[in-house]
Amino acid sequence: MSSALTPAAVHEWRTLGHAVVDRLAAYLEASGAGEGAVLPWREPSSSVCDWPVDGEGGADLLLLLDRVVAQSNHLHHPRFVGHQVSSPLPEAALCDLVSSLLNNGTAVYEMGPVSTAMERNLVRWMAKQLGFPAGADGVFTSGGSAGNLTALLAARQAKAGFDVWTEGAHGGRPLAVLVSEQAHYCVSRSLQIMGFGKAGAWPVPVDACFRMRPEALPDALRAARAAGRHVIAVVASAGSTATGAFDPLDDVAEFCGVNDLWFHVDGAHGASAMLSDTHRGRLVGIERADSVVWDAHKMMLMPALVTAVLFRDGRHSYQPFAQEASYLFSRQAPEEQWFNLASRTLECTKTMMVLKLYAGLAVRGRRFFAEYLDGMFGLARRFAEAVREAPDFELAVEPDCNIVCFRWTGVAAASGAPSGGDLAGAVRDEIQSRIRRRVLERGRFYLVQTALPAGVYLRVTLVNPATTDSDLASLLDEVREFGRALVGGGDAAQASAEGAMADRARPRRLR
Ligand SMILES: *Cc1c(COP(=O)(O)O)cnc(C)c1O
Repeated sequence: MSSALTPAAVHEWRTLGHAVVDRLAAYLEASGAGEGAVLPWREPSSSVCDWPVDGEGGADLLLLLDRVVAQSNHLHHPRFVGHQVSSPLPEAALCDLVSSLLNNGTAVYEMGPVSTAMERNLVRWMAKQLGFPAGADGVFTSGGSAGNLTALLAARQAKAGFDVWTEGAHGGRPLAVLVSEQAHYCVSRSLQIMGFGKAGAWPVPVDACFRMRPEALPDALRAARAAGRHVIAVVASAGSTATGAFDPLDDVAEFCGVNDLWFHVDGAHGASAMLSDTHRGRLVGIERADSVVWDAHKMMLMPALVTAVLFRDGRHSYQPFAQEASYLFSRQAPEEQWFNLASRTLECTKTMMVLKLYAGLAVRGRRFFAEYLDGMFGLARRFAEAVREAPDFELAVEPDCNIVCFRWTGVAAASGAPSGGDLAGAVRDEIQSRIRRRVLERGRFYLVQTALPAGVYLRVTLVNPATTDSDLASLLDEVREFGRALVGGGDAAQASAEGAMADRARPRRLR
């Protein structure tokens, strides 16, 4: 096989491409209709044996891709209710194909003139959705984790009081950021990457709904200062990862204003709610943020990764990776080089990630995404109601968005089936984990679990427009079935013993 693009080779590629699209369409038909397993579960050690690498070549690409599709987690299946990843719009995948083939990875303008222009206008459109003023600006980057790091670097340049970028973290007082106990782990990870140490992410307690308690902020600030920390920022979540809680952004904004702190909102999951007339209210105060991270691969039906980092004052978008100490905006304006995007991102080369989002908005329009979001939030609310009404289930908290945490308590035995009685503590936690494992292995649903202060909960994120109320009713039936089998099937004593052992042996962080 020659690597030259001869007419014959291009013809072969066209035929192959049609065949790949035909197969993907068949996958969409089957998975979309709920056929087959959501995730055909395999132990990692068994899966790895299936994909050896010998470097010799000769494989049939179509057969290889067939196996990939068959063995993957099927996010278009209506019973995929697991992680916060989208069930992507099929046309967005076609945009990714175009993006890959053109390979206009943008570091500087000439490498990707179209995506550079799209990014500029898309950033401004998204900033406007947040209620940011005209001077807002930002960049796209590879995921919310990279986005939060980017925003926190800007916060540090703006508020540290010394040029950390040039002098290093040891060049001044140790820094800290006030962070909700429920923030995504990437926030504290970013701060540790930045040299703040573990105490650099100073915890702020949450209320019973897992939202940051704004009245706890003054105490947290005092405590951090008493520990010798110069506090530069507060990070709020909209919504949080475990339960989807939206922190009270307006109150946090107020606190930041009074105390001259940078206000960052991790809106990776929930910033998309700004598109919805119904749910925008959850985000009141986001327009006062200094920076916001917004993942389009969470709630805008995009394949990963496509993340916007948005700054209310667009000049800050030039600070995170400024190679010179230009944090006094008086130097030769880097804004004049706005079109060389790599000066503002962690990446040097980055993919044409904006193409799919730009095209999605151009073709479908804002209203389509708003209706999708309303649909998913509504489905979650109805599922939460069903959980609350079921006597043998318990809801962790009323959902703020499309994430619902619940557990099987086994208290009621209306049908006369074996009852779990007062499942408690380690046993109850162990049962949730075992239920989830059995659900995973059976493959009819894919859901996850999370550890909250009150114990282990099953967790669903509703992202697939094809998921119905009746799918979720079946999910409760299946969880109940496994729960009863575990409790009634003589497994209870074993679960209890193993649970208690596991409790002692490892921290209960099972997500
Ligand atoms: C998903 C998520 C992240 C991480 O984003 P990635 O795109 O997966 O890197 C960060 N914060 C929140 C609140 C999230 O939901």
